[in-house]
Amino acid sequence: MAKKEIPYKIYLEESEMPKYWYNLRADMVNKPAPLLDAKTRKPMTAEDLSPVFCDELIQQELNDTQAYFEIPEEILNFYKMYRPAPLVRAYCLEEKLQTPAKIYYKFEGNNTSGSHKLNSAIAQAYYAKKQGLKGVTTETGAGQWGTALSMACAYLGLDCKVYMVKVSYEQKPFRREVMRTYGASVTPSPSMETEVGKKILAEHPGTTGSLGCAISEAVEKATSLPGYRYVLGSVLNQVMLHQTVIGLETKAAMDKYDIKPDIIIGCAGGGSNLGGLIAPFMGEKIKGEADYRIIAVEPETCPSFTRGKYAYDYCDTGMICPLAKMYTLGSGFIPAGTHSGGLRFHGMNPTLSQLYADGLMEAVSVPQTAVFAAAEEFARVEGILPAPESSHAIKVAIDEALKCKETGEEKTILFGLTGTGYFDMMAYEKFHDGKMVDYVPTEEELAKGFSYLPKMD
Ligand SMILES: *Cc1c(COP(=O)(O)O)cnc(C)c1O
Repeated sequence: MAKKEIPYKIYLEESEMPKYWYNLRADMVNKPAPLLDAKTRKPMTAEDLSPVFCDELIQQELNDTQAYFEIPEEILNFYKMYRPAPLVRAYCLEEKLQTPAKIYYKFEGNNTSGSHKLNSAIAQAYYAKKQGLKGVTTETGAGQWGTALSMACAYLGLDCKVYMVKVSYEQKPFRREVMRTYGASVTPSPSMETEVGKKILAEHPGTTGSLGCAISEAVEKATSLPGYRYVLGSVLNQVMLHQTVIGLETKAAMDKYDIKPDIIIGCAGGGSNLGGLIAPFMGEKIKGEADYRIIAVEPETCPSFTRGKYAYDYCDTGMICPLAKMYTLGSGFIPAGTHSGGLRFHGMNPTLSQLYADGLMEAVSVPQTAVFAAAEEFARVEGILPAPESSHAIKVAIDEALKCKETGEEKTILFGLTGTGYFDMMAYEKFHDGKMVDYVPTEEELAKGFSYLPKMD
């Protein structure tokens, strides 16, 4: 039973927690493309960005040379309330699958917000507070990011205004109430509170809203209220930077037991958890110190990597945010009903996009019924009830483990388990009742999305 020498859970000591975030861009040969001003098409400067974003976060966003950023002590102390997160050896899943593969997952669901988003929420709220701001505004779709941000703001005594996509506001009252418990004000979007909201409502009466529209409202609010800035839960490089705490902890825990993953898998919405998990491993890969197979998993309904274009695009529907070069389906692309709200964004983090373009990582897309089947299989043996988003990674980890069963290879598979699914039981219900359907967007639908891409010359 030599195999049991590795414990079910590998925890780090508090003293072994990472004290720096790792900026992978510093070690990349081909740097991600700069953000551009939507009007002038010139690279955005810190000054251009300062009406919208917090000053120190802008420095982090624009810096692609400094490899390490010290984690301020206040943030480290907050992290200690729910970190280090466990790295779990999935012995029970291995047994169930009868695979020679060794499966590990990093579990980020051990906090009230239920996902990894708190790692960046506390960092962004901290820099807003440090700048002397009164509060921050943001958007939220399914509600994970808004929940995380409201927790961080409550801790630091900052005001938090959340624009929540109207359909989620009405259909997902529980996350909304968690946000209000932490003192956030939650407005269904589109609203009559902003000019862009009024305009959208006039043009589309009765619309149930979209993420891109809520972003436009939150940005307008931040720039029109003194003492406020806008913060975002994914996609930006600063968010990926904060999320490297996931990968750094994972690497430290694996190093303790001389474990080297062969395959690293993560779900990809805007790319922040995947980018954070793989960062230290990808750094070694780029420097030629080690090799890893890295796989991004996305829903078939919103296939940014696997069917998107690598192009400059808007991050929001109102087209008021800067242009980012990324794998994208177009800012007007509306994904069909997927139950993984956190994976519905049309674009992908610019750093990951460059790595993918350079062939340093792979991507696959999976249908949602297969994702829920994998979620259920996992829940029944490992105990944790996974978020639908996270279950995309589970699905591909299981597929890879089953391939090992066929070939007899003892590969080591690592995946990111980003959160829990307690607020997603309506989706589980649909799956159990056989009412969940899979949908693959047609070429025509994708072409329509691409038609929204800004013309670059
Ligand atoms: C938001 C979310 C994701 C996707 O976001 P990324 O920025 O791609 O990491 C994945 N899992 C959960 C649980 C989420 O809440």
